[in-house]
Amino acid sequence: MTRPEMLARLARHQGPWDIVIIGGGATGAGIAVDAATRGYSVALLEQSDFGKGTSSRSTKLVHGGVRYLQQGNISLVREALKERAILRRNAPHLVKNLPLVIPAYAPWERAFYGAGLTAYDLLAGRSGFGRSSLLSTRSTLERLPTLNPDGLRGGVLYFDGQFDDARLLINLVRTAADGGAVLLNYARVHSVLTTGGRVEGIVATDEESGDELRLHARVVINATGAFVDGIRQLTTSIADLMIAPSQGTHIVLDRRFVPGESALMVPRVGDGRVMFAIPWRGHTLVGTTDTPIPAPTLEPRPMKDEVDFLLRTAARYLKIAPTRNDVCSVFAGVRPLVSRGESRVTAALSRDHTIDVDPSGLVTTTGGKWTTYRHMAMQTIDRAAAVAGLPARACRTADLHIHGFDTGSQRYGELALYGADAQSITELSRTALNLAAPLDDESPVIGAEVAWAVRYEMARTVEDVLARRCRTLFLNAQAARRMAPAVAAILARELQQTDEWQRAQVCAFEELARNYTLQGSDDRAKDPQPEVRRASR
Ligand SMILES: Cc1cc2nc3c(=O)[nH]c(=O)nc-3n(C[C@H](O)[C@H](O)[C@H](O)COP(=O)(O)OP(=O)(O)OC[C@H]3O[C@@H](n4cnc5c(N)ncnc54)[C@H](O)[C@@H]3O)c2cc1C
Repeated sequence: MTRPEMLARLARHQGPWDIVIIGGGATGAGIAVDAATRGYSVALLEQSDFGKGTSSRSTKLVHGGVRYLQQGNISLVREALKERAILRRNAPHLVKNLPLVIPAYAPWERAFYGAGLTAYDLLAGRSGFGRSSLLSTRSTLERLPTLNPDGLRGGVLYFDGQFDDARLLINLVRTAADGGAVLLNYARVHSVLTTGGRVEGIVATDEESGDELRLHARVVINATGAFVDGIRQLTTSIADLMIAPSQGTHIVLDRRFVPGESALMVPRVGDGRVMFAIPWRGHTLVGTTDTPIPAPTLEPRPMKDEVDFLLRTAARYLKIAPTRNDVCSVFAGVRPLVSRGESRVTAALSRDHTIDVDPSGLVTTTGGKWTTYRHMAMQTIDRAAAVAGLPARACRTADLHIHGFDTGSQRYGELALYGADAQSITELSRTALNLAAPLDDESPVIGAEVAWAVRYEMARTVEDVLARRCRTLFLNAQAARRMAPAVAAILARELQQTDEWQRAQVCAFEELARNYTLQGSDDRAKDPQPEVRRASR
């Protein structure tokens, strides 16, 4: 799967596509898999890299949403629990069971959350990930040895799933490509083709060559997440905006803050959100916030007050208070929350998805969450096929193995998340000395993963590799900075690029990586015109 091959497939295609998808995040890639496996001809265009948007910036939970249970949204929880089980069955190399512990400090908390999580288990039925149970104070501390013991009255244990979002995404892209779909990154859609007010295709720019790409389609699907309004505005002069964007920030700390296998979950913190502190790839992932922002951006920037809030909250629950010096990386993502005249308090907006068909026939699908991407895709294709008058065909993704499927991938150690691809990466690492060794003392990433990302996963830049094919930028921004020159050198050789290109790549990455350090968020705090206001409840 290379970009030149995808461009060649685009050029070879005769006549209109059955379906053209705009946006290469969880929603778009999920739709591409669904459409291709039903036998429709389908092309997907992504303006940046696959997963550049929200889909690489989640909390990485495959979950029913304990929080939505608290809000009484039973149908959303039931659907998500069903999808959680389907995803673990179809991508066992990417989804693992995660034990989570809710600590109880108030006398009522253990019984209250215990009852709620029993309901969660009942809703999951036979597809549960493990039975929840009440924990004594001692067993709570055994599972979370760094938890603040002062006033602790036990806890509640429950189970959800954990996954790597960007890796699942690239595996979905490969699944869709294996099914015959054409998926192109760095192709920005800037206009739509219409006849008599009906959308009949799109025009995009190949961001690498500058060439124009014109694709005719029986139906166009707008799967651009928080950016859907921009595409909707290409077809009509719509006044009602669908999205109320909200930013969620995470900080990544050293593993010693949550050293065991279990995660800490606090159901209600200061701004009304849930806080998680989760073991993630040798680190601790802490999040998140909910900050309304005026407009979505592709590289959302964590704010100093968001970071302070996360550090303060973590310090309340952990024995050792993390400080700014302990932050290895920080990142933000934009929630595509559907507002449509509902409350502007983003923490209260629906996490459910929306499928909308406007008078031009443009199908827009947004909202939802990673966990439910498959269900969203199924409903979107059912709707889009009807809009386009395509022959109805049944969805085939409920039992479809996702690329890399392997039930025993733990045997591959650091390469486990590649699943069935791990063996080939190991073989590739034996072909040259610089492909076998880790690229930094603080990261397990080896050169072969970089070469693999270019040859089979359409990586084009140092950022694509260090942010999304491997997760170093999200785990340890300083290590990622140090690795950039070595990654650029491998990329330049694979892509036959010049020394100048290599230097420009390192500079661009250096600039970007600042956003993932506290220096970046501190500098923005000095900005006299703050870009955000905090959610109030
Ligand atoms: C902080 C946070 C934590 C979360 N945690 C979880 C979690 O733990 N579990 C869970 O299930 N869900 C979680 N979610 C929700 C989940 O991440 C999102 O619902 C999901 O990633 C949205 O995917 P998407 O494809 O709709 O949007 P995106 O991933 O943003 O994809 C949209 C894509 O469209 C592209 N695009 C935009 N305009 C154009 C154009 N003109 N031409 C071509 N391409 C274009 C963008 O570049 C982008 O890549 C979380 C969300 C946030 C913000």
